[in-house]
Amino acid sequence: MPASMLWYNMNEWMNDMFFEKRAVLKEKGLHREIRDRTSPQGPRVRFNGKVYINFSSNDYLGLSNQPDMVMRSEKALNTFGCGSGASRLLGGGCTLHMALEEKVARFKGTERALVFNSGYAANTGIIPAITNEKDVIFSDELNHASIIDGCRLSKARVLVYRHKDMVHLENLMREASAGKKIVITDSVFSMDGDIAPLDDLFNICKKTNAILYIDDAHGTGVLGNGRGALSHFQLEPEPWIVQMGTFSKALGSFGAFVAGSSDVIAWILNTARSFIFSTALPACVVAASRAALEIIENNPDMVKSLWAKTDTFIKGAEKLGMNRTAIETPIIPIKTATVEDALRISRKLFHHGIFVPSIRPPTVKEPRIRITITAAHTYNDIEKLIMELREIL
Ligand SMILES: *Cc1c(COP(=O)(O)O)cnc(C)c1O
Repeated sequence: MPASMLWYNMNEWMNDMFFEKRAVLKEKGLHREIRDRTSPQGPRVRFNGKVYINFSSNDYLGLSNQPDMVMRSEKALNTFGCGSGASRLLGGGCTLHMALEEKVARFKGTERALVFNSGYAANTGIIPAITNEKDVIFSDELNHASIIDGCRLSKARVLVYRHKDMVHLENLMREASAGKKIVITDSVFSMDGDIAPLDDLFNICKKTNAILYIDDAHGTGVLGNGRGALSHFQLEPEPWIVQMGTFSKALGSFGAFVAGSSDVIAWILNTARSFIFSTALPACVVAASRAALEIIENNPDMVKSLWAKTDTFIKGAEKLGMNRTAIETPIIPIKTATVEDALRISRKLFHHGIFVPSIRPPTVKEPRIRITITAAHTYNDIEKLIMELREIL
């Protein structure tokens, strides 16, 4: 084939892939752009020199720029430097990594914990590591994308059950003749804010000898006085339960963990590819995460304040014609008929100095705006949000 021919095809492919397909996204209101801050994360953020009240972040306790955490991180930076140089198994870890894992295990009441570089890396690494081709995974239909991708990387068969539908789950579990059965769920669903029925899931798994895998990304630091979803339901961290969680949301830092029995954790550290083949987190990040756990333990009022502010929104939500019982956590979605509606509401709020992002397909099936309340908001911030929403809706 002459070179000119190849160039022509390449050009066409580039055009189709990167221009025309994007034009379709734009037409549907699904084309995304990044909006970067010029300020730290927090209840108030600056974009292009203008300050907005921020209801977009998962920094539920306002820890991302907390002075003690910054100080502890700075100290680790000065002691251990910027980069960690290699994966944990190749000497990239330092004593702070180990100290964080001990802290997490105590915090979660498990034998052992292991730090991962992100929640995404944890789910895509752990799920394939603890399953094989004889197994069946049962996954809630609204589980986070990182769980879905972890399931894709697993050799196990994946059966998706209807959102929180225990009857459907049990039916699927009865039909599937499996080696091992693993039930996977978000504890708090990230885009809907509802809580998984962990008590039912616990009983079903116990009865059927299944493993229960909980993604506590939005439960850690929020539910159960900050200790997470199992504490919220007063459930024990049994050896057949695998809990992952993140440091990147309520803990205001970055990275993730898995907590469970020593045997399970040792297996994961030997087999999870996202752990083995990725450079260890820098010490300054690890130090911040450990500081966050200590702050939560020593300041129980912080989590209480988060819930008090969430309650303030719930009270106001009635004025907006919202069903208050549908709001279970500081994650509050307001679904809209169309993508354009979600964009319009978000744009109008932004115009009035309030940042509430719209969430569109493919992130969710049904478009919405997604509000997150944090302990760092003032009661006035929340009143203002309700007032503006009342105008717009
Ligand atoms: C955010 C999130 C993750 C990913 O965590 P990162 O640390 O941001 O990679 C995983 N699971 C759920 C439920 C999440 O909301």
